[in-house]
Amino acid sequence: MAEKADCIIVGAGLAGLVAACELAGRGKSVLLVDQEGEQNLGGQAFWSLGGLFMVDTPQQRRMRIRDSRELAMTDWMGSAGFDREEDFWPRKTAEAYIDFAAGEMQPWLSSLGMTWFPVVGWAERGGALATGHGNSVPRFHITWGTGPGVLKPFIERAREYEKQGLVRFAFRHQVSKIEKGGGTITGVSGEVLEATSVERGQESSRKVTGDFRFQSDCVIVTSGGIGGNFDLVRKNWPVKRVGPAPKNLISGVPRHVDGRMIGITRKAGAAIINEDRMWHYTEGVQNWDPIWPDHAIRILPGPSSLWFDAEGNRFPAPCLPGFDTLETLRHILASGYDYSWFVLNQAIIEK
Ligand SMILES: Cc1cc2nc3c(=O)[nH]c(=O)nc-3n(C[C@H](O)[C@H](O)[C@H](O)COP(=O)(O)OP(=O)(O)OC[C@H]3O[C@@H](n4cnc5c(N)ncnc54)[C@H](O)[C@@H]3O)c2cc1C
Repeated sequence: MAEKADCIIVGAGLAGLVAACELAGRGKSVLLVDQEGEQNLGGQAFWSLGGLFMVDTPQQRRMRIRDSRELAMTDWMGSAGFDREEDFWPRKTAEAYIDFAAGEMQPWLSSLGMTWFPVVGWAERGGALATGHGNSVPRFHITWGTGPGVLKPFIERAREYEKQGLVRFAFRHQVSKIEKGGGTITGVSGEVLEATSVERGQESSRKVTGDFRFQSDCVIVTSGGIGGNFDLVRKNWPVKRVGPAPKNLISGVPRHVDGRMIGITRKAGAAIINEDRMWHYTEGVQNWDPIWPDHAIRILPGPSSLWFDAEGNRFPAPCLPGFDTLETLRHILASGYDYSWFVLNQAIIEK
């Protein structure tokens, strides 16, 4: 007989863990399904810098940064450039997130034990226009312990709920279908993958050893993005906005960020929108000691590095490191080459 739960969550990354904790905290039973092994619990967030977008915080005030909900909203709208009918919900999500980031977010995360580096970082500054792209002020709060520090309280809580029988994990379970019946969602099904001993982040085997079916009338999909699947990245590439995709791509995310669930979710009737709205960092280099295939690392230099296209032409503002990555991408692609030159000296490197 198929296992049952009040809610099935597909993807045990940060989003899945947070959703599981919120549900279990309300007494609901949760089945958290992930195609990777237990060693990968937490997904991409483990590799992240753990920089959190928060607004008008004690850390900002200590640095005399004047931020507000209104300023953050203007920045968000200027960066998102919502201009499509289907942007209705993304806009609502943005408003809800800014309210959260300017309100209960930090007190709530503090209550879970999270703390932040006292210097607030300034990511994506944009072109300095009031209504254009970018953050007008520093808002990037780096969590102590970086990505693993963000994951820690949620992994601990989920494990605690597991002991109480409210959260169950199904690792190496790859969802391939969202089941429907009687006009409603009835669960998920897919393949059990062979056990794996690869290290966190490494590509794991896709050898199937069986199949499964889990039942629930509530399914939440938190399967991450598409960055580990270059075919999907190329298919959805926003040619009109940034130019044709480069011949060579490198990836900031492990291979399991494969975007497979997006098509599966669409098949079940979900409205998938804005597939061409994607984010690429242009300050990336190939990792000399890769963990996952085509592993890229982003360089975080001070904005004072000189940045040139392949032929030695300096990029115009705001194509500076950390200012406007998609605008820089457009310039790099317009040069006809898929690389650029970053020139910096010892003093900048040391900073
Ligand atoms: C190097 C790096 C630095 C970053 N820095 C920051 C930062 O400083 N600040 C910030 O806000 N964000 C940052 N990010 C982005 C942030 O970490 C991610 O957006 C976030 O962690 C995504 O979480 P998620 O739970 O949505 O997806 P994921 O972590 O990708 O989790 C999705 C899970 O779903 C599973 N899955 C997928 N398909 C299936 C399927 N069919 N069946 C079963 N399981 C499936 C996957 O195996 C995976 O475990 C960074 C990311 C990286 C890689």
